[in-house]
Amino acid sequence: MKPVRLRLSRARGFNLQEHSRATNGLEAVNVSRPGPHGNPFIVGKHGNRSTCVRFFVCLFDGLLPILDRETMAASRALMPKMRQMAREIAGKNVGCWCALPAPGEPDMCHGFVWLAVANAPNPVLALRPLTDAWALIDERADLTPRVRQSLTCEEVKP
Ligand SMILES: [Zn+2]
Repeated sequence: MKPVRLRLSRARGFNLQEHSRATNGLEAVNVSRPGPHGNPFIVGKHGNRSTCVRFFVCLFDGLLPILDRETMAASRALMPKMRQMAREIAGKNVGCWCALPAPGEPDMCHGFVWLAVANAPNPVLALRPLTDAWALIDERADLTPRVRQSLTCEEVKP
């Protein structure tokens, strides 16, 4: 069974594990904020949706998006643990608050990045077509100059 990204719900009685098992029989990991799997980049604060997900991908490449002190600290803390957390997610669904994508559209949620990294033999290759798709959506989106400026990732010094 292929793991999928699920959407969390505030509806009364919603239970992620029940929803997950009903979907495809797999258990699920909640990757929302706050939590160890949350995306340190916040939509509206650090960029639009695709930008924040692309920043998250940068962390898997050993790159640190340069934004603000808070995000730098959170990203640095997260990076060494990411591969280990990805191994723990392998074979499980992931749950996040992001809306699910329309049919044919790429899923712009960091949860989808967790899925790709956790279940792909070569995560960098697995993510490349995704980041390209997100970049196209970014081009269509109305990026403010501040967000454009912040689209830089820097290699982390050991
Ligand atoms: Zn999400």
